[in-house]
Amino acid sequence: MASEVLCGRCGALLTNPSAPCPRCGSPASGGGYYAAAVRPRKNPALAAALAIIPGLGHFYLGHNMKGFAYLLGIGGLQFFGFDLDLTVIGAAVGVPMELGGGTLWVFSIVDAYRTAKQMEQRGF
Ligand SMILES: [Zn+2]
Repeated sequence: MASEVLCGRCGALLTNPSAPCPRCGSPASGGGYYAAAVRPRKNPALAAALAIIPGLGHFYLGHNMKGFAYLLGIGGLQFFGFDLDLTVIGAAVGVPMELGGGTLWVFSIVDAYRTAKQMEQRGF
């Protein structure tokens, strides 16, 4: 048996997900309500584990823009920070940049976990 589908408008259990809701008449074929009701739950621990690769935890959660922002932000800070370390003068700038990238990295892992937790609490 397929997973239970709840009406996105009134919350009634739909025995036939492809038919309109018998209680409120919300059209199942509308897609929006239906997709929201059956969106799979996200595992916060898995989101945090995936976030060890910058951005991946947020891609997993469907927050693609945020994932890209973290990927570019963390990748950019680490990459350019490391590059600057190779020169004596650059180390003064590069080390703080790397530390900034590392902080953002840790934050992104925590953020992925918290986002998944919030999604869990909201029921999707
Ligand atoms: Zn309904």
